[in-house]
Amino acid sequence: MRVAVVGAGVAGLVCAHRLGEAGHACDVYERWPGLGGQAATLDVGGAHLLERYYHHLFTSDRDITELYDELGMPDELEWRPSSVAFFLEGRSWPFTTPMHLLRFGPLSPLARIRMGLAVLRLQRGGRDVRPFEHMTAREWIRDAMGAQAYDKVWGPLLRGKFGDRADDISMAWLWGKLTMRRRLEGKEARQELLGYPRRSWEPLFAELRGRVEAAGGRVLIDRPAARLSRSAEGFEVLPAAPGSFRRGHDPGAFEAAGEAERYDAVVATVPNDVFLALLDAELADAIGRPYLERLESIEYHTALCLLLELDRRFGDFYWTNIADPELPFVGLIEHTNFVEPERYAGRRFVYVANYLDPADELLALSADELLERYTPGLRKVNPAFDRSWVRNRWLHREPAAQPIVTVGYRERIPPLQTGVPGLVLANTTQIYPEDRGTNYAVRLGGDAARELLARRLNTRWAETGS
Ligand SMILES: Cc1cc2nc3c(=O)[nH]c(=O)nc-3n(C[C@H](O)[C@H](O)[C@H](O)COP(=O)(O)OP(=O)(O)OC[C@H]3O[C@@H](n4cnc5c(N)ncnc54)[C@H](O)[C@@H]3O)c2cc1C
Repeated sequence: MRVAVVGAGVAGLVCAHRLGEAGHACDVYERWPGLGGQAATLDVGGAHLLERYYHHLFTSDRDITELYDELGMPDELEWRPSSVAFFLEGRSWPFTTPMHLLRFGPLSPLARIRMGLAVLRLQRGGRDVRPFEHMTAREWIRDAMGAQAYDKVWGPLLRGKFGDRADDISMAWLWGKLTMRRRLEGKEARQELLGYPRRSWEPLFAELRGRVEAAGGRVLIDRPAARLSRSAEGFEVLPAAPGSFRRGHDPGAFEAAGEAERYDAVVATVPNDVFLALLDAELADAIGRPYLERLESIEYHTALCLLLELDRRFGDFYWTNIADPELPFVGLIEHTNFVEPERYAGRRFVYVANYLDPADELLALSADELLERYTPGLRKVNPAFDRSWVRNRWLHREPAAQPIVTVGYRERIPPLQTGVPGLVLANTTQIYPEDRGTNYAVRLGGDAARELLARRLNTRWAETGS
């Protein structure tokens, strides 16, 4: 088969690699002038790479660690102690060990114990998410942990991440976060370890690219797909001109460049709205309204991420959850409190994280305007902070960063098979009940390749009886 994979994020690269292993050469089309999608890196100067958006792995992230092993790169991953805090009531409260929960001043002693026991019960309660799928996180938290835990901690965090949709978020989403990552018992309770590849995520992408090319494929960066259509015996991909990323994300705004290329099959790893915009009318008809409606029914929030290089340390923690509703951002992730600054010639980096409704006015601001807007909030967390500490800043926006997992989400998930044989869709909306992440993109890329091959075999068997 000649296969087109649309998107060179983790899912697309892994899918193309798996298909290459099975003897099928892939062309991977990518809009951005680089690999890795949401996990892509940026050159911060001095031969140092950092992810555009903060990234780490959890010890439960088996698919990606196995991939590193399989590709002969096990030494890339380093596991380092994490440190977490909650900022509320004017200070950062450490939240790394169970002891920190017991000393967590914003909650009454009883509320602290209730919160810890509720998480323990959830973690011991087995691997079945179904009992949690038909209630909101808000309902469960208020019931299991009490109103204080919701009002002071979880409510502000959910509102930070999901804005007006916070009250609709399914408990299935929070269940995934609380049960699959870190455990409150055993070794991990004392010291959580997080993974980070010693040379950033980039070597993984480069290795996957090499494998796809060695299998006879091509990885075409800065070469988006502008349109997908059916041809007599397969599909056509119309490529867009280099530099199209400057026109945004909608393929309708790209200028076509060159002839459409013919493929036997297509795996699209782009967000739902991009996939919909890629389909020509005939192909959309062939997929049919019920599938398309599923795609349309899932909303995303946009990530807005300001990366600051500072001339000194900002705070004491790697990860600070902002639970103070007056601050205009949801997290501070001080990368160099996780990976030592010596790795970056002594330079210090902190991400100021936000998730926003696509219409939020903050998304229209430049890096400097945003920094100005954030400065009073940064000063609340560290009163000594001064703009003169900032040596460099980079701003990135990711429109399809976080699918909004509301009650009943499972019923809306689009299957990998679009209904048109040979056309597979694999994107973050299908990661469930876990919260999306690079580990699950590795799993998804493998699943997409398997789906394509399974359907292909079935079709051939149906056509030839052999
Ligand atoms: C702020 C933030 C923080 C995160 N933190 C973590 C973390 O700590 N740990 C972790 O494991 N994960 C984290 N993630 C999530 C993780 O990065 C994603 O889940 C994962 O990378 C998704 O991979 P994907 O291949 O499914 O999708 P994507 O990475 O979105 O890949 C889709 C690709 O399609 C391309 N594309 C779009 N349109 C076209 C077109 N027309 N033609 C061709 N290509 C196109 C895109 O440019 C992109 O490269 C984070 C994400 C964000 C936004």
